[in-house]
Amino acid sequence: MQAPLIKVAEKAGFCFGVKRAVRMAYDAASSCSGPVYTLGPLIHNPQVVERLKGMGIDVCDNYEELPPGATVIIRSHGVPLEVLEFLRSRGVRIIDATCPFVKKAQDIVATLTNSEYHVVIVGDGNHPEVKALLSYGKGRASIFPHVPDGVLKLGVVSQTTQLLEKFIECIKWLIGHREFQEVRIYNTVCQSTAERQKECKRLAQEADLVIVVGGRNSAGAKKLWVVASEEVEAYHIEVAEELNPSWFLGKRVIGITAGASTPEWIISEVVEEVKRITGGKVDGRG
Ligand code: SF4
Repeated sequence: MQAPLIKVAEKAGFCFGVKRAVRMAYDAASSCSGPVYTLGPLIHNPQVVERLKGMGIDVCDNYEELPPGATVIIRSHGVPLEVLEFLRSRGVRIIDATCPFVKKAQDIVATLTNSEYHVVIVGDGNHPEVKALLSYGKGRASIFPHVPDGVLKLGVVSQTTQLLEKFIECIKWLIGHREFQEVRIYNTVCQSTAERQKECKRLAQEADLVIVVGGRNSAGAKKLWVVASEEVEAYHIEVAEELNPSWFLGKRVIGITAGASTPEWIISEVVEEVKRITGGKVDGRG
């Protein structure tokens, strides 16, 4: 049997915002005196969270429990305004690692709602980024498809990690179901997400099997798995140990991609293990 070709996506792994947040956390570990926390896991990857713990950075799930004088790192998808205000009032030192693209979406929500627009956010209402975005609307924002009666001026933004196609579908739905005087649409889908998803689709069209590497709690990795599964057999794994040799039987081209919160070292371990199982050769990166 011929050894397969292993194609690793060029955009697999940390995006700009996650890279920045992890670097800020590493810097904080070496420069801060006193306890350092992240508010919730810094990124959706348990192995990175474990590594940070080893450097003295713990996860705090309840911001109200942070002691005055502590340092807290705000993760890349931001926190609600009221949380920031509470932390400031308690004398907690804040290292704000909110991704600049998320910050831009927050500013858009604030600007639109200050100008009498109602803003609808296309995204997952349970996701921390969306909860934070909502807070910047100060009562004049809601989550798709909910738009209060009587709204005439509508703003639409998206969770940064949303599928672009879904964002477009939702806009069409809004315009088709309600009459507004004015609709202002801001495409706040992060390019990094869109590019990663496009590349994943291309990879899945060329491959007989796609492995998506990423935390099980990572929305981005789950979405990549959805995109790949529409084209070909695909599996979502967190670490190399989960690879099952039976998946590779008879496969000629194997694609590997990873979510934006997957560190390079985990991707490399997966690539090495796929090489070991299949005897395949890596085409491109890796
Ligand atoms: S996916 Fe985009 S918006 Fe989200 S953290 Fe990464 S770079 Fe920032």
